[in-house]
Amino acid sequence: MRHLTIICLWCSLTLQAQQATQTENVFLITLDGLRWQELFSGADSSLIIDEDYVGDPEALQQLFWRDTEEQRRETLMPFFWHEIGVQGQLLGNRTLGSKVNCTNQQWFSYPGYNEILSGFADDQRINSNDKMPNPNKTVLEFLHNQEKFKGKVAAFGSWDVFPFIVNEERSGIPVNAGFEQNPSPPTPKEAFLDELQQQIPSPWSTVRFDAFTHHYAMEYLKKNTPRLLYIAYGETDDFAHEGHYDAYLKSAHQTDAFIKELWEFAQSHLQYRDKTTLIITTDHGRGTIPKETWRSHGAKIEGADEIWIAILGPDTEPLGEVNQDTQFYQNQVAATLSALLGVEYKGDKIGKTIDLAIEGGR
Ligand SMILES: [Zn+2]
Repeated sequence: MRHLTIICLWCSLTLQAQQATQTENVFLITLDGLRWQELFSGADSSLIIDEDYVGDPEALQQLFWRDTEEQRRETLMPFFWHEIGVQGQLLGNRTLGSKVNCTNQQWFSYPGYNEILSGFADDQRINSNDKMPNPNKTVLEFLHNQEKFKGKVAAFGSWDVFPFIVNEERSGIPVNAGFEQNPSPPTPKEAFLDELQQQIPSPWSTVRFDAFTHHYAMEYLKKNTPRLLYIAYGETDDFAHEGHYDAYLKSAHQTDAFIKELWEFAQSHLQYRDKTTLIITTDHGRGTIPKETWRSHGAKIEGADEIWIAILGPDTEPLGEVNQDTQFYQNQVAATLSALLGVEYKGDKIGKTIDLAIEGGR
């Protein structure tokens, strides 16, 4: 059994996960295929000036190029660095020895999302991005099957495979993904989103723009106050595959702002304020060398198993960027999420809970 520690002014208590967390709600967020390199170092010096990948290098440099690595990453993802990097924890800066890896051997989306959500890799059965109902129960489904979370779990995704990854049919968890509209009587904002979603063509056949996913999720959050909300942003991966480094950076920057909006809403709301943990991660990394491999990922791309995890909330010690030799895995997200909600999620194959009270999380 791993423990979560709560530090208060008068005491330092170690209590079992089932009893003692302040977290009552979790927002799980993924940014598809966002590299740790950009999260921890900001814009890449060679890619930002490369005319093969950037329409207007000068304009892009004005937006995201700064003198130091610290300035570049804060410019690219200010919420991550001004809030999570101060009040929470950021795992996966390999230049400091902090490593996070996939345990699946495939390094593309469905295997990564299965590993995040189920807590284990399943290379035998999850080996394509096909729309196959996930045979594995996710931690979302595990919690949704418990009385106190029934009807309090929801998922929103830009990619139209999420209803299958979460197994919407078996789990009963509402999943709004791809180009789905709002099924229930819409709020005025939802009705407008439905209209816009039909009018603004997406460049991709299976992925919508993240702004739709985000605003549908925000409306749902305000209306239904779920205790466990999963939002899967997708643009970063698609822009990268297309070789649009400018759009990839702008999307990362915008998603950072979306997450800030989500957090500020939570902190303004009685149910969520100081009782909500954000867990943010990615399904896979991307290549680095040779430079064109940044567009791609998969088992043949070196480094595409290198990922990162960010956590912010009342049970997470404010250690900022982890700067020592540590090794974590994608399969630890599910158990950590569940432990934060006070429910043990474990099994032979499921990764262990990350201890958020200890320096380096060991
Ligand atoms: Zn991809």
